[in-house]
Amino acid sequence: MKILALLLAAIAGTATAADCGPDKLNTERTIVLKREGAAYGTQQHSALPLADKEVVLTFDDGPSPENTPLVLKALADQCARATFFMEGRNLRQSPDLARRVVSEGHSAGIHSDTHPHLPTLSPEQQLDDLALSRAAYKAVFGVETPAYRFPFLEETPIMLAALKQANITVASIDMAINDWIPEDTTEVLAQRLNESLDKAGRGIILMHDANGPTAKALPTLLKVLKHKGYKVVHLEWEKAQ
Ligand SMILES: [Zn+2]
Repeated sequence: MKILALLLAAIAGTATAADCGPDKLNTERTIVLKREGAAYGTQQHSALPLADKEVVLTFDDGPSPENTPLVLKALADQCARATFFMEGRNLRQSPDLARRVVSEGHSAGIHSDTHPHLPTLSPEQQLDDLALSRAAYKAVFGVETPAYRFPFLEETPIMLAALKQANITVASIDMAINDWIPEDTTEVLAQRLNESLDKAGRGIILMHDANGPTAKALPTLLKVLKHKGYKVVHLEWEKAQ
């Protein structure tokens, strides 16, 4: 029995390596960012140092027990790495799933605690939300979050100053697929991705792993990237001091 198990493990190992061949999307390279409170994404800030047809995959609003596992499977099937911006409340509810995301080679940042419209809150409330989400991240991963994405991309001066002070990268976006409508079909999302890619040509793509239609469509969306000749760049951050 033991020999059979070893043999099966060896076959599985070989199959995995073969699975990441040139027919898959794969991850072309990794950029390791400093923990210095920079801000990226041309919808609001400067561009990441990406070449034409290089994209960074990002997923917001998770982890979601229903949908994030499907997203992880689609990424693993294509050997593609992504960055997940997680809500503090979801980190508290699904810490094991959050750790699984990172253990599968992806990176993680925060996306507020309860996804509020920050400009409608007082400065104290905004900073409270940030503190709660940072604490949730640290409780799950044991380190400070390296990055933050604003809910609804709604930035405020007080939050930008607090993030800079804490050396947390602000991760805006270069393109999106507007994937928050529950009725979206895979065809519609693929078409939106196609149009966004043609318009932006490179950059950070915003998607939502908590959104059912996105999780369902992701195998197709990754094929669109591959078919159009796009390369995946993975973002990581320096280890915390
Ligand atoms: Zn969001």
